[in-house]
Amino acid sequence: MNDKKDETIKYALYCRKSTEDSSRQILSLDSQEKEMLKLAETLGLDIVSTFRESKSAKKPDNRPQFSELINLIKRGKIQGVICWKIDRLSRNPIDSATIQWLLQQNELKIIQTMERQYLPGDNALLFNVESGMANQYILDLSKNVKRGIRAKLEKGGWPNLAPLGYLNKDSKIIIDKARGKYIVKIFEMYKTGKYSVKEISDILFKEGFRSRAHNKYHKSKIHKMLSDSFYCGIMEKDGAIYQGNHEPLISKKLFDEVQEMLTKKSHIKKQNIPFAFRGMLRCAKCGCLLTATKKKRRLTYYYCTNGKNVCEEHKAYIKEENLSTELNGVFDNLIFDEKVVNLVYRAKLKESGNVMSYLEEAILGLQNRLKTLEERKKVLIDGYLDKVVLEGDYKAKNRIIENEIVLINKDLQELEVKKSSQDNITLERIRNAFLEPKTMQKEFLSQKPDEQRNTLITLLWNATIDNKKIANISFKEPYNVLSKIENKSDFDSVRRGGDSNPG
Ligand SMILES: [Zn+2]
Repeated sequence: MNDKKDETIKYALYCRKSTEDSSRQILSLDSQEKEMLKLAETLGLDIVSTFRESKSAKKPDNRPQFSELINLIKRGKIQGVICWKIDRLSRNPIDSATIQWLLQQNELKIIQTMERQYLPGDNALLFNVESGMANQYILDLSKNVKRGIRAKLEKGGWPNLAPLGYLNKDSKIIIDKARGKYIVKIFEMYKTGKYSVKEISDILFKEGFRSRAHNKYHKSKIHKMLSDSFYCGIMEKDGAIYQGNHEPLISKKLFDEVQEMLTKKSHIKKQNIPFAFRGMLRCAKCGCLLTATKKKRRLTYYYCTNGKNVCEEHKAYIKEENLSTELNGVFDNLIFDEKVVNLVYRAKLKESGNVMSYLEEAILGLQNRLKTLEERKKVLIDGYLDKVVLEGDYKAKNRIIENEIVLINKDLQELEVKKSSQDNITLERIRNAFLEPKTMQKEFLSQKPDEQRNTLITLLWNATIDNKKIANISFKEPYNVLSKIENKSDFDSVRRGGDSNPG
């Protein structure tokens, strides 16, 4: 078989109409599918089958199409899934676990939603949190929130005491000029991943960030602030979200990046990865994952798990230090030629133009939906006033429409943010993204194995080891375009040739 053909990811398109939450039913199956097809075309994705599900996802085993989809992934017929939102794919813990497992095993290589991609290297916890949030949101929407509070929130006002960094003034929330700037700094420092919460608290204390009693803020307080979306303009109350009309201190993008960092850090802490490269590398002979053990003088050694019981390689123990040096060779397979980088970022720029027109269309679609809903509200109230519609029916239907309006407005806001960040993409920024691996390479050898692990996760899809050496590697997007390796099995010859290659 042709190697290159194996590299193309085959996608399944999965649409689900949710019956349990008509308020979130923003788009019908047909329009969902249409939007996703548009996205697939924009991104150039190869769709080989389409699934349309109308059953609810609350309980497992209730979705024949979903099972069929899982089946195809397990049989290797499909490697990618396109769906509307991640919660369309898994709305119960069992489905969620199945999907996550397939991702971790790399049998499923990508989930593309309208908003983002989920990749095998992604943080598993994040996936959980996001599908969990969808759950919680639905549950909470149906709860009765006290009328007055809710009314205020819906108008963008905050019914409580202003959080640190803001002040309450004449029933409004304004930025605290003295402390607001520190809040921004907290988010920016944490995002870099270089500081712990305690270090941030210490450093900023010296720079004047103090409580009213001139004390240092405890790290738990800083930690709490880092996950408070109020700072980017989104108010959360009893599980529901509202768009605040206060001035945000930070962008939603910065907030999201910090959330990812928070999950990543807590994940690492809990797992306490004793073996940095475990589960990342496969044995070239039998395809099993390499595992690790501590041997003499508490040094870490890696070896093939020999899960299929057919492999001799499991007797070859590789010292962590040696493996780390070997993995540094990964960078030799990236081309940092000026011309190639230029070519690539021009292509990327064109792609970003496509995303732009897609975003504009999506915004238009939602705006039209809003108009329809407003008209529907009018018709409903007329019916109620003419006594054609009963009061109970009126209230229930009206609530459904209003919920949908809140959600559409939220989606609209996010799309606008995305659009404006798309506006800001400059050649230079794209270029830097491609030159990033070069910086990574410089730092790689001085890093600890768990930091090296993160670098490798960013760059690589797969790596296999044969005879204590790297046998095959494949790079993730977009680094694959900088890769010298056309035939993956030819790693060694490329590396040898690479010595005479400038740059
Ligand atoms: Zn093996």
